[in-house]
Amino acid sequence: MRFFTSVHLLLLAYIISALVFWGVSLNKQSKQIYQQDVALLKTEIDSTTQPEMYNSHIATLKEKRHKRTIQYLGEGSTFLVIILIGAAVVYTSFQRRIRLSRQQNNFMLSVTHELKSPIAAMKLNLQTLERHQLNEEKKKQLIDRCISESNRLNDLCNNMLIASQMEGRQYVPAREAIDFTDLVSQSVKDYAGRYHDRFSFYSDVNARLTGDRLLLQMAINNLLENAIKYTPAGTLIDVTLHGKDNIVTLAVADKGPGIPDSEKDKIFNKFYRVGNEETRRTKGTGLGLYLTSKIIKQHNGKITIANNKPVGSVFEITLPILADA
Ligand code: ADP
Repeated sequence: MRFFTSVHLLLLAYIISALVFWGVSLNKQSKQIYQQDVALLKTEIDSTTQPEMYNSHIATLKEKRHKRTIQYLGEGSTFLVIILIGAAVVYTSFQRRIRLSRQQNNFMLSVTHELKSPIAAMKLNLQTLERHQLNEEKKKQLIDRCISESNRLNDLCNNMLIASQMEGRQYVPAREAIDFTDLVSQSVKDYAGRYHDRFSFYSDVNARLTGDRLLLQMAINNLLENAIKYTPAGTLIDVTLHGKDNIVTLAVADKGPGIPDSEKDKIFNKFYRVGNEETRRTKGTGLGLYLTSKIIKQHNGKITIANNKPVGSVFEITLPILADA
């Protein structure tokens, strides 16, 4: 990166000095042309006998020289502006590539961890089931944990698969009739079963819409998963559904650390995660919110983040719904 910046600056300095050099040379040349023209004029017109004619020719020659100077300055500054714009474009696109490659690197590190940890947890639970004589209640507990871990793995694989398919425009979203209220309430129920006493749910609308069930399910799960992942154990997550004027608003409000204003837009970028790999306690891929916002936009909706009071964040999704029959 530093090497590129130095080479880039050196090249830019060279091009600008070459431009200045050519500008000065052309100006000198223009002065010489003027002097030669004046000398020629003196051989053709005598300034003492025909002063008026001589002065009028001198004025024309001066005018010509002035026009040449303006032309050199105009073309030189246009070149300079084009060169500076080009340099800025090259520099920013190079920086963007570096940032993306760093994020992709972080993504690979995180994804390996994300894939390995549910697999390791499932293996441990299954080995316990195999090696020990357990009572029914304990067996059920271990099996439930395996199901929960495989759900996590499934969500992660879906996120990665859909992200790459959406990127390559291979995924064609379905257009099916969906009971959105039911979809949200089932997801919350599922999460509440896995994380006891962490979720509250309230709805004042029976929202139906046309869209892709799998995608919307992923978007909802990503918000619920983040609310669990980024908030302290024991704090409540409020999920509400509110309907007004053929618009449904899904709000997921948590009491976690919140998201700084400077990060609010960035967290919807692909692979973006707040902080860096050394300081982060949580693991993730930075794909969840990127996909969620893509899915919501695809359903003609909007996703926003606000600060919860006194602490935490509120993720809000608004979607158009079908009018009641
Ligand atoms: P991941 O969770 O895999 O890192 P996301 O795209 O879901 O990826 O989230 C991007 C980033 O946004 C997270 O790394 C986290 O820093 C921040 N974030 C998301 N949800 C929350 C939340 N509810 N509270 C605080 N920070 C959050």
